[in-house]
Amino acid sequence: MFYARLIRRNPAEPNFHQAVHEVVESVMPLVYDSKKYRDASILERMTEPDRIITFRVTWMDDAGNVRANRAWRVQFNNSIGPYKGGLRFHKDVDLDTLKFLGFEQTFKNSLTGLPMGGAKGGSNFNPKGKTDAEVMRFCHAMMTELQRHIGEDTDVPAGDIGVGGRELGYLFGQYKRLNNRFAGVLTGKGLSFGGSVGRKEATGHGAVYFLREILQHRGEGLEGKSAIISGSGNVALYAIEKLEELGCKALTASDSSGFIFDPDGISGEKLEFLKDLKEVRRGRIHEYADKFGCEFHPGKRPWAVKADYALPCATQNEVDEADAKVMVANGLHVLIEGANMPTTADGVTTLQQGGVIFGPAKAANAGGVAVSGLEQSQNALRIAWSHEVVDTRLKGIMAGIHQKCLRHSLEVHGTIDYIKGANIAGFVKVADAMVAYGA
Ligand code: GLU
Repeated sequence: MFYARLIRRNPAEPNFHQAVHEVVESVMPLVYDSKKYRDASILERMTEPDRIITFRVTWMDDAGNVRANRAWRVQFNNSIGPYKGGLRFHKDVDLDTLKFLGFEQTFKNSLTGLPMGGAKGGSNFNPKGKTDAEVMRFCHAMMTELQRHIGEDTDVPAGDIGVGGRELGYLFGQYKRLNNRFAGVLTGKGLSFGGSVGRKEATGHGAVYFLREILQHRGEGLEGKSAIISGSGNVALYAIEKLEELGCKALTASDSSGFIFDPDGISGEKLEFLKDLKEVRRGRIHEYADKFGCEFHPGKRPWAVKADYALPCATQNEVDEADAKVMVANGLHVLIEGANMPTTADGVTTLQQGGVIFGPAKAANAGGVAVSGLEQSQNALRIAWSHEVVDTRLKGIMAGIHQKCLRHSLEVHGTIDYIKGANIAGFVKVADAMVAYGA
């Protein structure tokens, strides 16, 4: 009944349906048992965004042509704090993608324990092949409209796929120009204008801290183990960095052209080369293989490489059922979702039935938005914390998320299941706030 209504109200939005389905499966026993949640129609309300803003962004390319893109901000839920969540620039961005991401963000932000609501935004602008000047004009044009809908106590966007330090600089510059206010209205800012140390690294480092918590709980460690990673954006790069630092070999990295396999691990000067290639020169991943003489697999993802852990850090639904079967056959021990919803629903089932421990995105990649929350705190206090302070807090937040997942999963389902635990823990805080506010 609930799903039939959901699909009728949100037709042709398969990513959104997938994200809602997973959460509702986890929280259903709780909602059935609870009169306060049933009376409040909590599931119907939580699956409907508070507000969706759609707008056109008109900008000029280097050849002088006027171009137009569509952009959105999905303000999903502000029950526990101002809206918070990234902006994604990618040719495939549509409302379905942003609704799934905004929905996920609501639970993820709740899990961090910080006062942040859930939102997501972005545009179908394709940054690939665009010059700096074109990206700047697009960002300025986008903020010209977006600025009236955001604010440090209202809605605080950040980066996501296609939106990094460069874009956030252009976006913040335009916000400041139009409003004559230097406010903590965006996170992931440059360090010289209100950014936090450790924000760039936070999602990748946090994902590895979460993996370490899972292992420690079982009396295991990362030392001497190996991992396969997809992606080469800031999540993948800094997950690789932390894995290597903790003695675990990071064997692979990828982009949309294929993946590289370095059996010695992507460490030291090789990792520095990869960072420069992807963060500064924006080149293709085969250059790593060309330089260091390792394998490059064009058009492929790294899931068939044997390792102890897998960290999909590229994009949604990049691990499907067939990949999951290969991973199970290869004896994969733990999968940690660095990207948002990188595993298909069938893929998740196959992995869990095959005995793979599954660390879901909303818990595992919450380190990024958690340090965004710390950036907001620093901006509000007009202060800058040291790397040590931020890193200690990040570790504490990831350990707290791990504890919450365990507790809620055991309480409601009687087993350790990080997916269920994350969904329930994220849900309870938001749902209780909504109940407290009344209808
Ligand atoms: N885009 C990131 C995420 O998916 C970070 C959001 C933020 O820092 O607000 O969580």
